[in-house]
Parts: sequence; C-alpha cells; structure tokens
Amino acid sequence: MTTQEKKNTWTVVQMYCPNCGTLNVGYKDQEGRNHFQCKKCTVVMVRSYKNRRHDIIELTVPQGMDRVRQR
Ligand SMILES: [Zn+2]
Repeated sequence: MTTQEKKNTWTVVQMYCPNCGTLNVGYKDQEGRNHFQCKKCTVVMVRSYKNRRHDIIELTVPQGMDRVRQR
C-alpha cells in the first residue's frame, strides 16, 4: 500500500443506532464525520464532531419507515 492509499483509507468506527439500538460499524471520512447505515432498520446516520462536549448526529429515516419511538 502506498502512502497516498493509506491517506485515503477510512477509519472504521462503531456506534449504536439511535433509532433501534443495534451496534453498527461505519467509517470516518477525511472531514472527521462518521457515517453509518444501520444494518437492522436501515437508518442513515452522520455524526459530526463539533468539540469535546458537542457532537451533531443527523438521522435519515428511509421512506416508508417509521422511527422507533424510545420514550
Ligand atoms: Zn437501527
């Protein structure tokens, strides 16, 4: 593997799905955002790092799917 290829390799990260609680494997892109797609409920998650105490998680629920309510 060349140095150039190493730079472009995404880091694998893990996160529990905020919708259904399944542990998923995603990847970290070059801007530091973590991308996931839940293997169970197929929700797409993008987690952006703001600072030490603040992350933003964007959830996209596929069409025709309802969110699992966790209240
Ligand atoms: Zn899920």
